[in-house]
Amino acid sequence: MQNEFDVVIVGAGLSGVGAGYYLKRDCPDRSFAILENRDAIGGTWDLFRYPGIRSDSDMFTLGYAFKPWKEQKAIADGPSIKKYVNETADEYGIREHIRFKHKVKRATWSSENARWTVEAEHDGKPVRFTCRFLLSCAGYYSYDKGYLPDFKGMDRFKGQLIHPQHWPEDLDYSGKRVVVIGSGATAVTLVPAMTDKAAHVTMLQRSPTYMISLPAEDAMANWMRRHMPASLAYDITRLRKVLFQQFFFRLARTRPEKTKERLLGLIREQLGPDYDMETHFTPRYNPWEQRLCLVPDNDMFLAIKHGKASVVTDTIDTFTEKGLKLASGKELEADIIITATGLNLQMFGGAELNVDGKKVETGKLYAYKGAMYSDVPNFASVFGYTNASWTLRADLICQYVCRLVNYLFDYNLGQVTPRLGPEHQDKPFVDFSSGYFQRAKDILPKQTAMAPWKQNQSYAHDLMDLRFGAIEDGVLEFKRAPQHVGAQDAPREPALV
Ligand SMILES: Cc1cc2nc3c(=O)[nH]c(=O)nc-3n(C[C@H](O)[C@H](O)[C@H](O)COP(=O)(O)OP(=O)(O)OC[C@H]3O[C@@H](n4cnc5c(N)ncnc54)[C@H](O)[C@@H]3O)c2cc1C
Repeated sequence: MQNEFDVVIVGAGLSGVGAGYYLKRDCPDRSFAILENRDAIGGTWDLFRYPGIRSDSDMFTLGYAFKPWKEQKAIADGPSIKKYVNETADEYGIREHIRFKHKVKRATWSSENARWTVEAEHDGKPVRFTCRFLLSCAGYYSYDKGYLPDFKGMDRFKGQLIHPQHWPEDLDYSGKRVVVIGSGATAVTLVPAMTDKAAHVTMLQRSPTYMISLPAEDAMANWMRRHMPASLAYDITRLRKVLFQQFFFRLARTRPEKTKERLLGLIREQLGPDYDMETHFTPRYNPWEQRLCLVPDNDMFLAIKHGKASVVTDTIDTFTEKGLKLASGKELEADIIITATGLNLQMFGGAELNVDGKKVETGKLYAYKGAMYSDVPNFASVFGYTNASWTLRADLICQYVCRLVNYLFDYNLGQVTPRLGPEHQDKPFVDFSSGYFQRAKDILPKQTAMAPWKQNQSYAHDLMDLRFGAIEDGVLEFKRAPQHVGAQDAPREPALV
């Protein structure tokens, strides 16, 4: 089997399959393989199986630019998203490039050979690949284990303790008292979804999160799809959604008080004037300092209003045999406790990177255009937006990588490396106060205050930069392919050497 490629992609989730599409479209002469640890396509949308699993941004922007989302619901359930990614893989001939059950453990760059050697594990055996360019589409969290704080007395609890990342397929929660610990997107999805069968569902949060309700179906988008070609309707809706997201994010950042008032007002309208909004729905931070939680069709608020769900804002003192004892002294009895406490962030799918014999420490890297990294040659990774749908940026990064790969081959260049100058002001990779970013700050790369080392979280900016910006910008250092590596394409004219 072929093990030498021009490009190796790690991961066959939304980003990896999208990367495969762009490589086929923009670099048709380049060979590539996608190494995927699991035996399925879809990544996040295959892994998470908890009740109600759904997107928390609309599918017009979470979907690919090149493949219209045609389902009725804009806020889609996990299986529909998984189906969409699988359909894409089949429609565009990506599946045959995927090597399933290949876990990438290490990648080693040799400047002498201008190649990455990628070491993976397949069925317990080591397998090696080589490539000229490595693209990590491995997501941003560990698939092995979700994040679980070390709660006191956890082993005392006699009921079922479940992490949403490891949902038991046969879990029957009919008539059970369920407590969901957490207030992020997963908790906000699980709580209303489980009220279908549970006796009662309690969301136990340490502190509240901003939430906004939107209709699960976008009536205007569905109308447009009935009256115009699907791709045109999709493009218009996608643009509308991008503009709205950017406008709302900027508004929240520039006028936090006004935005806060409006967001809380909308929830108050649902829960009524007597509900204790201050305790349960008024966060301690400003809107969009953390990701906003989406509540489709007010489902969470309706569940509370109808008494099927409730919110408790308190801190866990200890687990007990019957449930939880809280710092306030209150006890919460439960048959099932779900720890929606988050993810363990990791970079590059946990794979170790080495450059010319030196191990790369991800926490010491600086992100170049949010895609490549200081002093790491011929390598890029996909990291989506925190303030908008992931795929918007994934699409742009993949297209940029294709331009770069073409550039390398067109000019017979062997190596491209972003080099950071000595003068710079460090900033965190993501300026969000969310717990999972704070926990991972030592392994997350940094950014600086200046382009191209600054992450703008702006689709409009990235569109201009990644799609149309010059490849040679004085920051990327290019080197010719070593003689013994051999030119596959006739060189045109020299670029920076
Ligand atoms: C529950 C949940 C809901 C979300 N909802 C939204 C949303 O609504 N909107 C949004 O914008 N974002 C959302 N996100 C973020 C989400 O992860 C992205 O939108 C998107 O699915 C990421 O796609 P990806 O392909 O980059 O990564 P993933 O979906 O994580 O896929 C990564 C793939 O890489 C594989 N892989 C990882 N490491 C290795 C390795 N070492 N070797 C080989 N293969 C490897 C994995 O098996 C997986 O298949 C959500 C995340 C979660 C957890």
